[in-house]
Amino acid sequence: MLRSFLIYLSKAAWAQRMVTQWKFAWRAASRFVAGETIEDALRVVRELNAKGINVTLDHLGEHTTSPEEAAQATADILEILDRLGQDGFRSNVSIKLTQIGLALDEELCAENLERILARARERKNFVRIDMEDSPYVDQTFALYRRMRDKGYENVGLVVQAYLYRSEEDTRALLAEGARFRLVKGAYKEPPELAYPKKADVNANYDLLAKILIDAAVEAGAPTISADGRIPPIPAIATHDEARIDFARQYARKVGLPNDALEFQMLYGIRRDLQERLAGEGYPVRVYVPYGTHWYPYFMRRLAERPANLWFFLSNLFRG
Ligand SMILES: Cc1cc2nc3c(=O)[nH]c(=O)nc-3n(C[C@H](O)[C@H](O)[C@H](O)COP(=O)(O)OP(=O)(O)OC[C@H]3O[C@@H](n4cnc5c(N)ncnc54)[C@H](O)[C@@H]3O)c2cc1C
Repeated sequence: MLRSFLIYLSKAAWAQRMVTQWKFAWRAASRFVAGETIEDALRVVRELNAKGINVTLDHLGEHTTSPEEAAQATADILEILDRLGQDGFRSNVSIKLTQIGLALDEELCAENLERILARARERKNFVRIDMEDSPYVDQTFALYRRMRDKGYENVGLVVQAYLYRSEEDTRALLAEGARFRLVKGAYKEPPELAYPKKADVNANYDLLAKILIDAAVEAGAPTISADGRIPPIPAIATHDEARIDFARQYARKVGLPNDALEFQMLYGIRRDLQERLAGEGYPVRVYVPYGTHWYPYFMRRLAERPANLWFFLSNLFRG
């Protein structure tokens, strides 16, 4: 109930107008967001890199409402790729297709995506396409395949364990050489499309982790690149220790080396676990969002964990 309501609020323009005016809301959001500027983001990348942790940078934004906004979002992503390239940061980038125009016009989005992938290739970097809610899944896979057909290899996908369709999608795309970030799924989906029960999502998560690990072994266990930017085939993105332990144990059983299995977590969540896994020799990548469009991202983080609501409200009382 509460999760659904918070996800509804994450999309409600009236709520966004109200909440983003509250100073304490930004104070609470800044636990999960590196800051509003690219300099804030790069400072966090530097700090994490110094601890042996890699990064994927996300310039916050989704559902742009005009071609001009989509063009601006694209230009911002090109700037990140340039900045990451100049200083040898161990970071790639994550993008959302609705940020670069998918909800407006698929062709416009394809042009923007190709410009981003071309620049990433020039800068020897990698772009992960985040997965959004179910109306965009087919288009996301179609655009990914179009770019692969044009020869762009420096691009990866996300698969959501809560969707019934994910096993079939994962098997088909792995056969085409895809690299995946595996997540549980952050949106509100109907029971016709997604497992309503957490236990079923977890079971499907473990199944998909197995499929990804098997595919990595079969492909000769490609490891993370030496510069930390190009991830291995499986990236296990969760803060759920039971899921992490399952993936680790299964990888050990089938002989996948540690540096061919990446773990990913969100900025501001389970730093202890991030550092522990990095200490054990696994590549760990933290998803670092920054920018002024933090509202929907922040609301999804509240929806994931009701206890975060108290943290949010405690910021109100701190004045
Ligand atoms: C690197 C990364 C990239 C992602 N990309 C996408 C994407 O492209 N598309 C998509 O739909 N989803 C994405 N997600 C979000 C994902 O779908 C989940 O909503 C999110 O990770 C929470 O689920 P969990 O796997 O951590 O498990 P859960 O079972 O929700 O949580 C397990 C434990 O982790 C901790 N935890 C989880 N969430 C929070 C939180 N918000 N605040 C504090 N503690 C928390 C708690 O201790 C909790 O008990 C991404 C997640 C990560 C880590």
